[in-house]
Amino acid sequence: MSLHIGFPTALIYYSHFPFWQAYFNRLGAEVVTSPPTTKAILDDGAREAVADACVPIKLYHGHVLALKDKVDALFIPRMVRINRHATFCPKFLGLPDMVRATLSNLPPLIDLQVDVGRNLWGLWPTCRGVAEILGFSGRAAWAAYREGTRHQQAFQGLLLKGYLPLQALAKLRGEPVEPAARQPGALNLAVLGYPYQVYDGYISLNIIAKLKKMGVNIQTLEMVPPDRLYQLSRHLPRRLFWHFSNLVVGATSYYLRQGDLDGIIHVTAFGCGPDAMVDKIMELDIRHYTHGRLPFMSICIDEQTGDAGVNTRLEAFVDMLLQRRGNR
Ligand code: SF4
Repeated sequence: MSLHIGFPTALIYYSHFPFWQAYFNRLGAEVVTSPPTTKAILDDGAREAVADACVPIKLYHGHVLALKDKVDALFIPRMVRINRHATFCPKFLGLPDMVRATLSNLPPLIDLQVDVGRNLWGLWPTCRGVAEILGFSGRAAWAAYREGTRHQQAFQGLLLKGYLPLQALAKLRGEPVEPAARQPGALNLAVLGYPYQVYDGYISLNIIAKLKKMGVNIQTLEMVPPDRLYQLSRHLPRRLFWHFSNLVVGATSYYLRQGDLDGIIHVTAFGCGPDAMVDKIMELDIRHYTHGRLPFMSICIDEQTGDAGVNTRLEAFVDMLLQRRGNR
């Protein structure tokens, strides 16, 4: 019987899952993911996680609980750096420790460090270490690493073509998914935020689907190469410490330079320290670059945020943008 490795459908699931799924599959292990977020999963996570954690971290705990009795081991890597420029936020750095300290009766955790900034070999040292723990040879690990790299590149390629992360994952599974075609004359909105916040349908209250239903063209940070986003985030006197924060700031700069943008929405998480700064930087950048002319809305989501409140804000924002267009 093959080994079952649990991968919570949260945090790096939206950015790095294809790599790890292909890697484990090539080793002969089956990857089991938790179901899409529900109220029960979020409530379980919020009950168990430390009280001052941000919503995505609480949610991660809920997904671990949903998986823990179904797998032989849980993959919870300590994400330190995925490039040489910035680290992940401290919550990512301490994630395996937080999970261990707060949840009981867990299967073994595979919690090796991912620190691409320290070496020239990318994810290879982590892959070799994981294979060693699971009892596979270096040769098997290398083949699995190569397989993971191929899948991750295919995923990134789809994102750049306009697929949203969940669509790209579905496409890689062979499902007949296509990215939404850009509607001529429709409003163009950049919806920016950390992928694990924006694409979790439950905690984001399906903001993207709602906007699409209103006929809006959506642009996201995944549609721009990460290197370009890092380059654009250099306008700050000092680059931010955190990986995803730099991507959001870079994406703001990128979309501000696109002449046809009607507005920017920042989806932010309650309890997120880095976002307190990122939100302000976005506001100042927009004010500076467009002299305050580009509408900006920040939507902060917590465990209690209701559908009705978000709907009202989105509808009001879109109505206001349509009126502005009419007045131009
Ligand atoms: S960046 Fe913010 S939302 Fe993401 S894990 Fe850190 S504190 Fe939480």
